[in-house]
Amino acid sequence: MTWTGGLGIVGHGVSQPSPSRTRPDLCAEQGHPGCVYNTALDRTWCLCGQVQYDGDQAVPHISCCGGPLVEYLNPDGTYSPASSTNPGRYFLHLDRS
Ligand SMILES: [Zn+2]
Ligand SMILES: [Zn+2]
Repeated sequence: MTWTGGLGIVGHGVSQPSPSRTRPDLCAEQGHPGCVYNTALDRTWCLCGQVQYDGDQAVPHISCCGGPLVEYLNPDGTYSPASSTNPGRYFLHLDRS
C-alpha cells in the first residue's frame, strides 16, 4: 500500500544530512582496526573492508562516539572529528559502554 498524501512524513532523515559519517578512507592510517564483527562468520572487518580478523577483534567505539574514524556534522553543514565544540559525539551509542 502506498499513500502519498498528507502529513509529509515520507522517511527519516531524507532531507536532513546525517549527524555523523564514517571515514573508511582513514582506515589505513589507523592500521585497519577491527570495526564490524559478524557473529555468523565469527570474523571482524575493518571499516574499509581490506582487512579481516578471526573472531571478535572489534575495537570498541573506533568508528563511533568520537573515535578517529567518524566525523560529526557541524552547525555550518561541514563535517569534522568530534570535539568539545561539536556535540554530535554524544548522539550515538550512549546506551553502550
Ligand atoms: Zn581498513
Ligand atoms: Zn560507540
